[in-house]
Amino acid sequence: MYDVDEIRKDFPILGRKVYGRPLVYLDNAATVQKPRSVVEAMSDEYYNVNANVHRGVHFLSQQATELHEAARETVRRFLNARSTAEVIFTRGTTESINLVAACFGEAFMREGDEVIVSEMEHHANIVSWQLLQARKGIKIRVIPVDGRGELRMDEFERLFNEHTRIVSVTHVSNVLGTVNPVRRIVEVAHAHGVPVLIDGAQSTPHFSVDVQALDCDFFAFSGHKVYGPTGIGVLYGKENWLDRLPPYMGGGEMIGHVSFEHTTFAELPLKFEAGTPDYVASTGLARALDYVSHLGLDAIQSHERGLTRYALDGLRQISGMRILGEADDHDAVVSFLVGHIHHLDMGTLLDRLGIAVRTGHHCAEPLMRRFGVEGTVRASFALYNTRQEVDTLVAGIARVAQMF
Ligand code: PMP
Repeated sequence: MYDVDEIRKDFPILGRKVYGRPLVYLDNAATVQKPRSVVEAMSDEYYNVNANVHRGVHFLSQQATELHEAARETVRRFLNARSTAEVIFTRGTTESINLVAACFGEAFMREGDEVIVSEMEHHANIVSWQLLQARKGIKIRVIPVDGRGELRMDEFERLFNEHTRIVSVTHVSNVLGTVNPVRRIVEVAHAHGVPVLIDGAQSTPHFSVDVQALDCDFFAFSGHKVYGPTGIGVLYGKENWLDRLPPYMGGGEMIGHVSFEHTTFAELPLKFEAGTPDYVASTGLARALDYVSHLGLDAIQSHERGLTRYALDGLRQISGMRILGEADDHDAVVSFLVGHIHHLDMGTLLDRLGIAVRTGHHCAEPLMRRFGVEGTVRASFALYNTRQEVDTLVAGIARVAQMF
């Protein structure tokens, strides 16, 4: 049984009040709250184990290394990667995407070559490629989004030509909640001999991901969105691709031997992990993945999908409501505008009622332009949200709408 009241006890912050009202935290697409087990594992490591990892002969260093490498194995299992060589720790989705754009771009792209992204990408998956564009003169091709917030798959297939080198798309839109048909995207791209990077920032918290079943070539996600700490994330890459990419940064950890004449690089995954890693955060991330795996991602998904449908039904009752994103496969994110009420006014007034939502362009300005809006209000759900909270949200929006 999925007992949300019991689950909430694992998250001390949810008991907080803001402005004297119980906190209703619906900004989960930006970051989620952390269960006690994650914070405790990290403080325990700082209090009892802390030492720099890898190459240390002393007890603490070996123990810290074991924890760090065990965390890598936890991530491998979470994604069903073939090997821990394919799991690279980064600072988050943004760094993971930048790594692929920089290293794949360096090795496999030259002037006139093309990357395909979509119109619903987070800026992280646009600007990384624009930096490469500025360096190498590559071209960025864009899969359009239809009025319901789904990718135009017919247009996608038409974007391929002999210059296409990589496809980089989001698994779930952080604005529309659309779940993209990434398995199909990979099939089409592979039929053209083109690899695919999936931005999993908004999928990993909500449903189970199997990188082998998806057959994607790269997959990125952030720890803090999946109940882990900030400052750590993952890049999964198929070994045969990662092996052929140059390192991202130079420094300790990522080398074999160094001389002024000739330096060799470490084997995977350390080749991409220059410098002291955040080995305490990796432990926190592993506990977070244990936490969601223990609850069961299928159970989490069905709870959150139920909440999302319930929220959509409630929101549709409010006059002047415009919901952006009506995809059939809709995850736990709802974006909306009410009448002519500015998203910032709505967000600010909801905040006064204790309801935390996000307003603005959600780091997806091209998508805002597509829908002819400057920003939206976004409510996003996590495994600990309740129907009562959705009721509070809907009542809050109705109250703000009346004020205008
Ligand atoms: N991609 C998507 C779809 C996101 O929602 C986010 C976070 N809003 C990112 C990338 C960037 O994640 P991070 O800031 O954790 O690197």
